[in-house]
Amino acid sequence: MFDITIVGAGVSGATFGSKASKYAKTLLIEAQNYQKEIPIRTNIFPEHNRPFIKEEIDWHNREFFPTTHTTSNYMSDELNGVIDSTEFGVPLGNVSYTENLVAKLINNFEQNGGTFKSNERISKVNRHTDHLELINAKGESYNTKLLALATGSRGLELQRSLGFGVPDSYTGVYVHLYGNEDKINENLKFNYTFHINPKISHNGPFFFNKGIERVSAGYLGEHGQSKEEIISKLERILKNYKPIQPIVEGLSYNLSSAIVGEISKHPIKGFSHDRVLILGEAAGIVTAFFYEGLLPGVACADIASKTVKPLFESGSSFSGSELQKYDKEVKRILYPYFKNGNALEYLIYNDSSYVKTLWRLYTKLLKENKTCRKYIYEAYINHDLSKHNTSNDRYVGEKWFGMLPALSKITLSPKFFRAMLM
Ligand SMILES: Cc1cc2nc3c(=O)[nH]c(=O)nc-3n(C[C@H](O)[C@H](O)[C@H](O)COP(=O)(O)OP(=O)(O)OC[C@H]3O[C@@H](n4cnc5c(N)ncnc54)[C@H](O)[C@@H]3O)c2cc1C
Repeated sequence: MFDITIVGAGVSGATFGSKASKYAKTLLIEAQNYQKEIPIRTNIFPEHNRPFIKEEIDWHNREFFPTTHTTSNYMSDELNGVIDSTEFGVPLGNVSYTENLVAKLINNFEQNGGTFKSNERISKVNRHTDHLELINAKGESYNTKLLALATGSRGLELQRSLGFGVPDSYTGVYVHLYGNEDKINENLKFNYTFHINPKISHNGPFFFNKGIERVSAGYLGEHGQSKEEIISKLERILKNYKPIQPIVEGLSYNLSSAIVGEISKHPIKGFSHDRVLILGEAAGIVTAFFYEGLLPGVACADIASKTVKPLFESGSSFSGSELQKYDKEVKRILYPYFKNGNALEYLIYNDSSYVKTLWRLYTKLLKENKTCRKYIYEAYINHDLSKHNTSNDRYVGEKWFGMLPALSKITLSPKFFRAMLM
């Protein structure tokens, strides 16, 4: 019998594993074959993630974090709205080589005595009065007192079978572009480029995340397209889309290595029942506009660990009411910050004709208004997101609205008003 079993060894599950294995007999199960390879990912890892992994990961280790993140470019067809941390102080965060980060977290887990199984998919969960029984695709079973589902968007049927809701899922695609460090820096000044064009997607950005000798490029949020269509659209964008040609020029990439996957957002109502917790993206805890999923992953892991530890010590049976604290803490800590993403999602991710203009004005605002840049900077580096300053978001919203031409002000004022109340 395991004390805790975690299904899914992405950032959420591996972080929780690294923490929980310090005080409980823990099993971590991953469907992909990590012995062969952990899929490579180059991600943005803001400073506000740091408090949740400070005991697990050395923030200055260049194996996991090859470079600091100093510049973000909110890019429209005509303008760059750049947040440069050197204008205000410390870096915005790090860029992560997430495969190395996950490997390190699993290593911590095993060093603490945890049992890791890779290349093994859990296909069924049976509830018993005093434990849960997990059954893998080969029919083997494990018993556990507490189950944490950290399956991202790829195991939602498990939580559905246990009576949980499932979040909304969207499709994304990315590929790595390669070049030497100098060439990459010559092509791309910014660690993070976030570009909106409704012709690419109505539900997400086109992005570049810059590592040292590699850049991840892709787009998020397309609906109902096949894998082939999504990859072929990515190919057309990389080859022909004018605004990004200077970035792509001279870098190599292989579209047969492009990854197509689901990304979930819009949090489900409850993240815990008797003996079960849902962590990170599986619960839809991903910011609705920027699709930040690593922050919620490490935050959920930290909050889950802090909830569960005292329950172990008191010999708890992990009732739904005892685990409720996890839900409350996730909402208290993350939701003030999530509001901003909800408002931006509402204004930008739709098929109205004004979206392109509105995004152009947003990038213009960031270019011209230092206070707006400073407020965004402060959100990146905030170590206590429960105190995220929503009046700063409102200030940016008001200034943005103020830039609209008179006629657009009349038509868009109800939308802006509603966005401000989100
Ligand atoms: C293209 C793209 C770029 C992104 N860039 C960023 C970024 O720069 N910064 C950021 O903060 N966020 C980013 N995100 C979002 C972020 O990467 C994810 O939200 C986050 O990694 C989710 O972590 P997770 O651990 O919850 O889930 P996952 O990373 O999806 O891990 C879940 C794991 O569970 C395993 N699993 C599923 N079902 C089972 C089962 N039944 N049995 C066993 N194992 C199972 C899966 O194989 C998987 O490894 C990006 C997302 C995409 C798609």
